[in-house]
Amino acid sequence: MNKLNRLNFSGGPGALPESVLLQAREALLEVPEVGLSVLGISHRSDWFAAVISELEANVRKLLGVSQDYHVLLLQGGATQQFSMLPMTLLRGETHPADYLHTGYWSGKAIPEARREGPIRVLWSGEADGFRRLPGDDELPFSPDAPYMHYVSNETVEGVQFHRQLGRDDVPRICDMSSDFLSRPCAAEQFAMIYAHAQKNIGPAGVTVVLMRDGLLRDAPTGLPGFLDYRRHIETHSNYNTPPVFAIYVVLLVTRWLMNEIGGLVPMDAINRKKAGLLYRVMDASEGFYRGRAETKDRSLMNVVFNLPSPEIEKRFLAEALAAGFSGLAGHRAIGGVRASIYNALTLSAVEEFAGFMENFQRGQKG
Ligand SMILES: *Cc1c(COP(=O)(O)O)cnc(C)c1O
Repeated sequence: MNKLNRLNFSGGPGALPESVLLQAREALLEVPEVGLSVLGISHRSDWFAAVISELEANVRKLLGVSQDYHVLLLQGGATQQFSMLPMTLLRGETHPADYLHTGYWSGKAIPEARREGPIRVLWSGEADGFRRLPGDDELPFSPDAPYMHYVSNETVEGVQFHRQLGRDDVPRICDMSSDFLSRPCAAEQFAMIYAHAQKNIGPAGVTVVLMRDGLLRDAPTGLPGFLDYRRHIETHSNYNTPPVFAIYVVLLVTRWLMNEIGGLVPMDAINRKKAGLLYRVMDASEGFYRGRAETKDRSLMNVVFNLPSPEIEKRFLAEALAAGFSGLAGHRAIGGVRASIYNALTLSAVEEFAGFMENFQRGQKG
């Protein structure tokens, strides 16, 4: 096969495993069991029904959740969940839902929720530039909140919670778009988890929603059909035409996680090793590479840092690209450099990049 010329360190859409890409390439031409291109297979076919049910089962298995959880495959990205969730659980509420403002993406969820009902921003890191996350002593969660919402990994700023938040008597709801299936996450402690595919588990076009049965007991009626989770539950994510190809690729990624990686515990170990390599280079650089996040809150997925000046950053990015490392520019909201090291980026790719960082720094001295 022809090897890819560049390594994808992009914040999203992210890298996908090479073995998955090869299978996807084959499926574009023909899915052997069906004799058709995956792009032309009916979403009402038996083949696709089997894809959905295997994917549902794989997500449950990887996360260790029971049949009490619905697995939904929706469209509209994580952004649609910012609205769909409060439309469902916040309309008509008198008690506010608790929201955490820990970075760019949780900040996008807040105004959308406010449109639908009362919310309380329990904590905001905005004044500190989102460089750190709150400790438990800073989070007086309300027992009366209809739910509590947070983002497990802030993709832009590179801060990540390394524990679960919240109370057991209030539904915990988490946007895990950029660290879903990167590590075990005690999923049964959450009432709902959502994650679009395009950072860690597939192409854009599909968002996985894991939802505890019973969460919708008091949901309002009269929502638009597409925005009513119940319609998607009843139809096994086949309410209207779903993105068959994107969903198939997510299935291939779950198979890769289960059969080639061996589940989320070994995936987590690999991801820790990868992040450890880059943070070690940063910490040994005597301030040349300045990490954005406080050490305890560093993300294992998005390593965000600055160099001594914008000019040096520009040179770093240009030389990195020329050396085959793509997608390293920081998010347009904050600039700098961001190395996104999602599941599919291999340890050897990260080793190569760590070596590049060391060499680049050496070159600046000479
Ligand atoms: C990228 C990202 C989003 C935005 O997702 P869309 O699918 O583009 O709507 C939301 N939340 C988090 C945590 C993200 O990283």
